[in-house]
Amino acid sequence: MPNIRLLSTDFDGTLIGFDSDGRCSPDFGRAITEHRALGGQWAINTGRSLEHAVQGLKRFAPPVQPDFLLTCEREVFRRTEDGQWEAHGHWNETCRQRHEELYALTEELYFLIADRAEKRGGIEMIWEEGRLVGFVTRTEELMEAFLKEVDLISADFVDFSYQRNTVYLRFCHRDYHKGSALGELCRLEGVEAINVLAAGDHYNDISMLDGRHASHTACPANAIEAVKHRVRLSGGFVAVRNYADGVADALAYYEKKEAAGFRAAASVGI
Ligand SMILES: [Mg+2]
Repeated sequence: MPNIRLLSTDFDGTLIGFDSDGRCSPDFGRAITEHRALGGQWAINTGRSLEHAVQGLKRFAPPVQPDFLLTCEREVFRRTEDGQWEAHGHWNETCRQRHEELYALTEELYFLIADRAEKRGGIEMIWEEGRLVGFVTRTEELMEAFLKEVDLISADFVDFSYQRNTVYLRFCHRDYHKGSALGELCRLEGVEAINVLAAGDHYNDISMLDGRHASHTACPANAIEAVKHRVRLSGGFVAVRNYADGVADALAYYEKKEAAGFRAAASVGI
């Protein structure tokens, strides 16, 4: 078995650039093929919906397919033998119910946020199935400024939280994020945190980079400073290359590092 049994990677900004052709890089292709050949598993842990994740994956066209898709920063799917995606365990259903409960308690807050957004301008609210689920701002600076307002008016709603990725923001229950989804996947698969490597580039990845569910962390060179800081705090690997090439370097780093550790232990008779 590989030292890294499970690789959890973000997708946009971590495996592909926002201005790229969306294709898998040759170096990442080689690294993930080798990881799979060693018996390792791969989860894409993304803010995309399942439908958009599948679309992105089709264009990415990696030489091996991921075993799991963790979508909307909170849902857990596994790949079936015929290449389809099915809910893994009961997590998604529980997640949906808890968001229903949250919506019932916080609907007034969402409309207040929409009202403030309209007054400020440059902010588009995102609706899904007749519900406010988040917003997108014209610029990252506007997102920073508006979030200060959102934090103030949401302070009394204890279960309310959000996941932010560049100019996109999705409302969520505070218990559901990439970190808790990864934790559930590890529980279902019987994988210990010591055998997990997580890699991401933006704010919505920080919950899987705090060392709790993945003992090994990494980010590509293009990651935002807050992510690099988080990765350094957890003793992780900050790549010198961007996007998927940086993740490929992280995989190589951790496999070699662990192998070196085993060699050192063997040499002193441990
Ligand atoms: Mg990202």
